[in-house]
Amino acid sequence: MAQESLDKKSLIVSGGASGIQWSDENLAINQQWDITTDLLVAGTGAAALGAAIAGADEEAKVLVVESTDKWGGTTFLSGGGFWLPDNPVMQREGACDAKEEALKYMENVVHDVGPASSRARKMAFLMGVADPVNTLQKYGIEFIRSKVYPDYFSHLPGGSYGRALEIKAFDIKKLGDWYEKTRHDEIIPLPLNTDDFAELARGITNPKGLLRALRVAGRTAKGMLAGRKLRGMGVALSSALMHVVRKQGTPVWLNSPITKLIVDDGVVVGAIVNKEGKDVRVRTTKGVFLGTGGFARNAEWRKKYHGIPGWSAAAPGDDGSGIQVGIDAGAEVAMMHLAWGAPTIPFLGDDSRGVLLIWERSMPHSVMIDQHGNRFINEALPYVEFIQEVLDHNKDVPCVPSWIVTDHRHAKKYVNLASTVGIDKLKQAGTIIEAPTLRELAQKINVPSDNLEATVERFNGFARKGVDEDFHRGENPYENYYGDPSYPNANLGELSVGPFRALKMMPGDIGTKGGLLTDEYARVLDKSGQPIAGLYAGGNTTASVMGQTYPGPGSTLGPALVFGFIGGRHAAKHGDL
Ligand SMILES: Cc1cc2nc3c(=O)[nH]c(=O)nc-3n(C[C@H](O)[C@H](O)[C@H](O)COP(=O)(O)OP(=O)(O)OC[C@H]3O[C@@H](n4cnc5c(N)ncnc54)[C@H](O)[C@@H]3O)c2cc1C
Repeated sequence: MAQESLDKKSLIVSGGASGIQWSDENLAINQQWDITTDLLVAGTGAAALGAAIAGADEEAKVLVVESTDKWGGTTFLSGGGFWLPDNPVMQREGACDAKEEALKYMENVVHDVGPASSRARKMAFLMGVADPVNTLQKYGIEFIRSKVYPDYFSHLPGGSYGRALEIKAFDIKKLGDWYEKTRHDEIIPLPLNTDDFAELARGITNPKGLLRALRVAGRTAKGMLAGRKLRGMGVALSSALMHVVRKQGTPVWLNSPITKLIVDDGVVVGAIVNKEGKDVRVRTTKGVFLGTGGFARNAEWRKKYHGIPGWSAAAPGDDGSGIQVGIDAGAEVAMMHLAWGAPTIPFLGDDSRGVLLIWERSMPHSVMIDQHGNRFINEALPYVEFIQEVLDHNKDVPCVPSWIVTDHRHAKKYVNLASTVGIDKLKQAGTIIEAPTLRELAQKINVPSDNLEATVERFNGFARKGVDEDFHRGENPYENYYGDPSYPNANLGELSVGPFRALKMMPGDIGTKGGLLTDEYARVLDKSGQPIAGLYAGGNTTASVMGQTYPGPGSTLGPALVFGFIGGRHAAKHGDL
C-alpha cells in the first residue's frame, strides 16, 4: 500500500498543511495543528512497534515516526531474542516455569536499584509477557524457543533455562520494497536462530557444528524453493513487527524525528515532528509513546555519563534525542550512568561504533590480559558484569583496550565475529596482531613479555586441570553455553600452539540502559514521581527494569516489547486528552 494512501486512511489532516485552523473549544488549546491522531509513536524498534501494534489493536489511530532514513533501530541489528519468563509458548510446551520463580530470580539478580526496578515494575513486566506473544500470534506471527539457553545466573534461586523466545525465520518478501528501507547490508542474511549461532560458533570442523550448518543450509534452501526469503534473529523480529504494523494500516514516516512535545497545563497534547525537514504539528488525543532507543551513539553524552566514547554496536539513530524530548517536557531520568555493556572491537575509523564480540573470550585456548600482560578477570562472565569489571580494573591498571590472546587452535576451530569485518583490514588497523611466539606477540602489543608468558603458563595449568582457580571460568552454565563441550571444562583450553593472536577488545555495549523514568504502565514520570499525562516510553529510552544487570538472554528486548505493549494499550484505553 502506498504511503500516501496510508496517511489519508489513518490520519485526519486538519490543520496548517491544508490551510484550515484546527480548533476545539472543549480542550481550550490555542494551537494550530497540522494533523490529528490518537497515538503518536516515535521510533521503529521493538518498544515503539510494540506500542504501535497494541494501540492499533485497541482501535486507536496510530502514527509511527522514525528519525533516520531506515527503520528497525538496534532491534533490527540484534540477536532478536527476548526474555519472557513463563510465556505462553513455554506454557503450551509444558516447560516448567512460574511467575513466582521468575520474580524470585529477578529479586536475586536485579535487586532494587531505584524506582525503575521496583517490585511493581518487575511484576508489571512478568504479568505483561503474555500480551505481545498472544497478540502477535493473532496476526499470524510464529515463535520459537531457545530451549537450551540458560539464564545468565541460572544457578541462583529462581534461575532457569529456555525462557527466551524469538520469531521463527520470517519471510522478508512479505514486506515488499519496505524491506529495502532497513540496514539489511549490516546483517547476516540467513534464517539463523540463537541456538544455531552458539553451535556454529564452535566451527564446522566439529560434527555438531557441521550438522548445524547443514540444517541452516537446508532451512534456507527449503525457503528459497518455496519462493521465500527467510531471515532470523533481529531481522525476523523487526520484520514481523513491521509486517503487523502495516497490516493494521498504520502509517510510518521515515526521516521524521520527534523534536518537541507540546504540553498544555501539564498534559502532553501533541508533538512536533520534523517530517523530511518540515515541522509538522501533530495533535494526539490519546498520547505520545517514545520508543526512540538510548544514547549509545551520542559521543557527548557517553563522555559525560560514562567517560568513554562508546564503541557501541547500537544503531546510528541511538542518539538520545528522544530522551531529550522527554526531559524538555519535565521528565525525570535515572540510571544514566549505565549501559548494556558488551565487548566490542572498535569499528575502523569511528570510536563511537563497535563490532560485538560474543564468544571469542569464552572459548578454550583464549585468555584476556590488561596492558601489564596480566590476567584480571573471568573472561566468560555475562557481558554486562564483564564490562563493569573491565572498567573497574581500568581505574588501577590500564586495560582499555584489553587484549584477548588466543592460540592457533582457537583461530582454526572457532568462528571469530571480528573477522566478519575482514581479517586483513583488522590486521592493517592493528585490531588483530599475530606472532609466532608469545614473546614476540607481547612485544608487538607492547606488554611485558615475561608477564604474558607467566600469565599463559599459569592459565595453562588451570586448563590442564579443568579448574580456573583464579577466576572460576566455566563454572556457570551461561559460560558453558558459549564454550566448547568437547573439553572437560567447556571454557578452558591451553595456549601452546602458535601462531598466537591478540584481539583488541574495548568495553563497548549493545545500547544504553538509563533514561526516562517510567512506572508500571509505561507512563513517564516527572520530577515529583507523578505521571505526565499523555506521555509514555519504553525500551532503551527508559531506565531499565533490569537495573544494573542482564538476567537472561533477551533482557533488553523482553522488557522493550512488554512495556511497549503495556504503554500502547494503556494510552489507547485510558488516554482521553
Ligand atoms: C549486535 C546486537 C545484538 C543484540 N542482541 C540482543 C538480543 O538478542 N536480545 C536483546 O534483548 N537485546 C539484544 N541487543 C540489544 C537490543 O537490540 C536493544 O537493546 C533494543 O533493540 C533496543 O530497542 P528499542 O526499541 O529501545 O530501540 P531501537 O531498536 O534502537 O529503536 C529506536 C528507534 O528510534 C529511532 N529514533 C531515535 N531518536 C528518534 C526521534 N527523536 N524520533 C523518532 N525516532 C527516533 C532510532 O533511529 C531507532 O530506529 C542486541 C544489540 C546488538 C547491537
